[in-house]
Amino acid sequence: MQAQSYSSELRAGFARVEESWKRVCASVEEAAIRAGRDPSEVRLMAVTKTVEPEYINHAISLGATLIGENKVQEFLGKKPSLEGAYEAHLIGHLQTNKVRQIVGEVDVIQSVDSVKLAREIGKVSEKKGIVSDVLLEVNIGLDPNKFGILPDALEETACEIAEIPGVRVRGLMTVPPFDADLEKTQRFFSNMYRLYIDITEKKIHNIFMQILSMGMSGDYPQAIAEGATLVRVGTAIFGSRNYR
Ligand SMILES: *Cc1c(COP(=O)(O)O)cnc(C)c1O
Repeated sequence: MQAQSYSSELRAGFARVEESWKRVCASVEEAAIRAGRDPSEVRLMAVTKTVEPEYINHAISLGATLIGENKVQEFLGKKPSLEGAYEAHLIGHLQTNKVRQIVGEVDVIQSVDSVKLAREIGKVSEKKGIVSDVLLEVNIGLDPNKFGILPDALEETACEIAEIPGVRVRGLMTVPPFDADLEKTQRFFSNMYRLYIDITEKKIHNIFMQILSMGMSGDYPQAIAEGATLVRVGTAIFGSRNYR
C-alpha cells in the first residue's frame, strides 16, 4: 500500500467507506442480537456495483471479504484490479448467453431464476470440470417487473434443478418489490424464511439450504429479524451510486 500516493479525494473517500463499513457491521450485529440470533450466522456482503476497484480494494482490506456484483461484464472488467482474499457472488440477472463468461469466475451465482439457466450453468460447469454453487432467486412479491421463480413453483423448480449435474443449490435469494413499505417488506422476508424452511425439511437430494440471501441498505435489519443469513448492502457502505 502506497497510501502517500493517493489523492486527498481518494483518502477522504476511503475514510467515508471505513466509517460506513464499521457502522453497518455494528448495525448488522445489533439486528442479529435483537432477533435473538448469533451474529456470526449473518454474513454481510458489500455490493460493489458501480464502485471503482480502488474503493473495493479498500473495503476488502477493512474486512469486506464478500462482495456482490450484478453485471457480468462490469465484474470481469474490474476483477483483474481486485486485490486480497475475497469471495465474489453474482447477484444480478444472468442471461443464458453470458453463462460461459461467468462460470468459474464467481463463487456463487445468486440469481438462478429458471431451469433453463440452471441447465446452461450446469453444462458450462461440467465442461470446465467444476460444480457451480447457486442460489434460487424467488419473486416473493409476485412483482411482474422482477425476475425470480414464483413461490408456488419453487419446490418443483428446485427438484428439477437439483437433478442437473454441475450445479449445487445452496439456498435462496430475493429482492422484494421496491415500492413495498417496510412492514410489507418484512412480511415478504418472513414468507421467504418459511419457503427456506419448507425446502430444508423436504431434504431434497443435492439441495443444501445454507444461505438465505435477503435485505439491502433500506431493509437489512428487517431481513435479519426474519432469518436472513446473508444481507447485500451497497449504498449504506459506498454511498449513492453514480450510474454512467
Ligand atoms: C444493488 C443491489 C443491492 C444493494 O442495494 P443497496 O440498496 O444499494 O444496498 C442488493 N441486491 C441486489 C440484487 C442489487 O442489485
